[in-house]
Amino acid sequence: MLPVKDAENLILNHVQPLTETEPVSLDAVAGRVLATPVSSSLDYPHDDNSAMDGYAARSRDLTEASPEQPVSLDIVEEIPAGVPPRHPLKTKQAARIFTGGVLPIGADTIIIQEETQREGDQVKVFSSPTPGQFVRKKGSFYQAQQPLLPSGLTVGAPELAILAAMQCREISVYCRPRVSIFSSGNELITPDQTLQRGQLVDSNQYALTELVKAQGAIPIPLGIIPDERDALKSAIAQAISSSDFVISTGGVSVGDYDYIEQILKELGGEIHINSVAIKPGKPLTFAAFPNCYYFGLPGNPVSALVTFWRFVSPALKKLSGQTNNLQPNFVKAKTEQKLQGNGKRETYLWGQLKIIAGEYKFHLAGGSHSSGNLINLAQTNALAVIPVGETVISAQETVAVMPIE
Ligand code: AMP
Ligand code: MG
Repeated sequence: MLPVKDAENLILNHVQPLTETEPVSLDAVAGRVLATPVSSSLDYPHDDNSAMDGYAARSRDLTEASPEQPVSLDIVEEIPAGVPPRHPLKTKQAARIFTGGVLPIGADTIIIQEETQREGDQVKVFSSPTPGQFVRKKGSFYQAQQPLLPSGLTVGAPELAILAAMQCREISVYCRPRVSIFSSGNELITPDQTLQRGQLVDSNQYALTELVKAQGAIPIPLGIIPDERDALKSAIAQAISSSDFVISTGGVSVGDYDYIEQILKELGGEIHINSVAIKPGKPLTFAAFPNCYYFGLPGNPVSALVTFWRFVSPALKKLSGQTNNLQPNFVKAKTEQKLQGNGKRETYLWGQLKIIAGEYKFHLAGGSHSSGNLINLAQTNALAVIPVGETVISAQETVAVMPIE
């Protein structure tokens, strides 16, 4: 039984980012991982522009301006946003300007309109502005050709806005990993089949397909494969040859019908992990093939999800080219209930992580914490972790909690 941390390291050391990349347009880049650093040929702001509604002026004309001795300037033009200025400012001249308007040549400051008084074609200024005030200088937020976004970054709404603003129209991203998913078990049926005594509906395939999709990978659901050597072997061979990752559930325990590990070996897979000191999820199996990684997750619904969140998700992020935030972000929380651990295996208990009065609190899900009980997983958003060697964490004590994405 490998400690959880060792299993995590081993998996992350093995899995390498996909090498294939593709160019995508701005419309298709959300959720994708940048394959090369992005830069732009534009400065940002594109020009010196005004951050306020007011008047563009030359600060040196106004060094003496005060409430008692206001200075009058001639207004030579009006510059709304989107209209370039036409007149360079000469001595004692100003331009009416609005937020986003481009500063005319010669102007180096903005006087906000609240500090002025308009008198026909003139404006009285009651204070001496500092040079550069309320001016957004060309290139002060970003200079053309400098690094804009690093590779390995997943494009979310802010990055999308940046790429759009900087007219990055074609972006190189990593190809999305193809992830085959199947469930193994003679007892399994699909939700629309009639349930016979002893049968169980395959729920794992639904949850895992959704999790894989949510990570930006391409799920390839292969359905239910019976616990039969030949059927399993051909399904696995087909899956590893046509995808980057395979995730199966069931058939990795020590039961008489648990064939997967043996088949992986027969197909030339290198088994790196076949049991981890985690509860739930002990029979987790991880194998490497030349162009594919195989995760055999236990069949119990909670075990399958916990091992996905803890091990598969970081690996899939790395495979996708992501370089940051691969591992879970554990937080310290006060548990509202007593938590019981297994002692020998790192124990994961599901519940709700909340912030109350500025403090993280963990509320344990009610009902059974059997790995076969998926019912009380509803509305949970975190897993409390009881380390090896500990069997009890009392209520109000601190526990490490892993938020579930
Ligand atoms: P196994 O890992 O194959 O020994 O399965 C452990 C338990 O999980 C058994 O009770 C199975 O019936 C159940 N199980 C296996 N696969 C699934 C699945 N795809 N969906 C829901 N439960 C499953
Ligand atoms: Mg089984």
